[in-house]
Amino acid sequence: MSDLATHLDRLEGHLARFRQHGIKHRIAGRDHAGSAPAFDTRSPVDHSLICTVARGDAGDIDAAARAAAEAFPAWRDLPARERRDILIRVAEGIEARAEEIALCECWDTGQALRFMSKAALRGAENFRYFADQVTSARDGKTLQSPGLMNVTSRKPIGPVGVITPWNTPFMLSTWKIAPALAAGCTVVHKPAELSPLSARILVEIAEEAGLPPGVWNMVNGFGEDAGRALCEHPAIRAIAFVGESRTGSLIQKQGADTLKRCHLELGGKNPVIVFEDADLERALDAVIFMIYSINGERCTSSSRLLVEDTIREEFEARLVERINNIKVGHPLDPETVIGPMIGKEHFDKVRSYFDIAREDGATIAAGGETLGDTGYFLRPTLFTDAHNRMRIAQEEIFGPVLTSIPFASEAEALEIANDTDYGLTGYLWTSDLTRAMRFTDRLEAGMIWVNSENIRHLPTPFGGVKASGIGRDGGDWSFEFYMEQKLVGFATGEHRIPRLGA
Ligand code: NAD
Repeated sequence: MSDLATHLDRLEGHLARFRQHGIKHRIAGRDHAGSAPAFDTRSPVDHSLICTVARGDAGDIDAAARAAAEAFPAWRDLPARERRDILIRVAEGIEARAEEIALCECWDTGQALRFMSKAALRGAENFRYFADQVTSARDGKTLQSPGLMNVTSRKPIGPVGVITPWNTPFMLSTWKIAPALAAGCTVVHKPAELSPLSARILVEIAEEAGLPPGVWNMVNGFGEDAGRALCEHPAIRAIAFVGESRTGSLIQKQGADTLKRCHLELGGKNPVIVFEDADLERALDAVIFMIYSINGERCTSSSRLLVEDTIREEFEARLVERINNIKVGHPLDPETVIGPMIGKEHFDKVRSYFDIAREDGATIAAGGETLGDTGYFLRPTLFTDAHNRMRIAQEEIFGPVLTSIPFASEAEALEIANDTDYGLTGYLWTSDLTRAMRFTDRLEAGMIWVNSENIRHLPTPFGGVKASGIGRDGGDWSFEFYMEQKLVGFATGEHRIPRLGA
């Protein structure tokens, strides 16, 4: 059997139970069908039905939030080492089911296996990393002042809501939920309606690892009902959200009445700036990797190439040659780089930019076409002869589509790079260290890599500025979100207290 056939065969084995039972909510360690009619989830590969999924409403969210609130005191007070051991067992459970997770994720999202097998293992790494922080997460400082010893500590904020998108659902869910549990919070997770499979596997793994019922609840469904109800629920203390910038602003509005703490990881239109003096071979590899891997459906993708005009012609020509070699195909084929877009609505959105580019006067130098009659496949695309005011340079397309814009000077490159509503990542290619320091200092982005693609190091802060988000994840920053600082001041003597009315 070819690898593709083997993978399809194994996938079918993993899907059998989903096909038979559908996906239900998981509340307090039990399945709940919910009262609303279930919806169908289909594969973007061939539009075939995968299974039915419970459609959560305000009642289901209420049951899940109550379960999370009830489970909170015991989880908060469990000795740190016991919480740590459970999280390590979750990581082991993920590793043991990594193949199942990766195959289901590919079938559900259209992402290529070569990237999703790593994403599954990255999920385990997230659990291991935050498990290691459990025993110190609540530590604080002692700050002496005249007459007082001030002692700080951190406490878990309470039950939290986690709302995740469809692009790399497994990895992102672990990235949010692992630190919440490590902090001592309980969780209600609302996964994206378009990609429910791996969230179900994940909650099962957690329960098998010994997580007490109610600590992690999952309610499937759509943003406007389940998602909204989660943001509005009074028992939920904070919302950790990953998704579009437009939705991020809705999350804040919906959470306003109950004064929710919101952490928003949103969209991007990230620049990669290539100067003439850069190592152009490596820059080329990185530019291609950061827009054509993970279907271009990644928030940190470098979707705007700013290239110095002296090297533009050659760089674009080499790009075209490489782009035309990128294999689009079945996500479970090990050779595939780009699979289908997640669904019809997103596919139509991405391909609409082919016409928008033409109307704006840009050139389609590569791609610009869909592929096949079934499945949401399109060719990796490069737009050239573009300027930064075009829609293809301003709007997040969220597909394998790159817009190339020339610049003549460092000042112009910086101006173009910052001329966007977003500010998630930036990538700079130059061999001039002084320029790199000057440029990165002024570039408006939460994360910047110099002479590198995006390489995550879990202790570093992850997040964006402007319309790309509010707040940071990673390392201790995650705990700052999921925990409250508490200060206790102890009098060290009998200082003078103003005697009003004496
Ligand atoms: P989306 O905003 O449409 O949906 C994300 C989640 O929010 C889904 O679970 C959805 O059901 C829910 N939702 C929608 N409306 C809601 C509402 N009114 N209230 C509560 N929940 C609601 O995003 P998407 O299309 O699933 O994902 C793609 C987007 O995510 C892109 O913009 C991408 O850049 C962004 N993203 C950002 C990061 C980051 O770290 N900055 C990472 C991955 C993806």
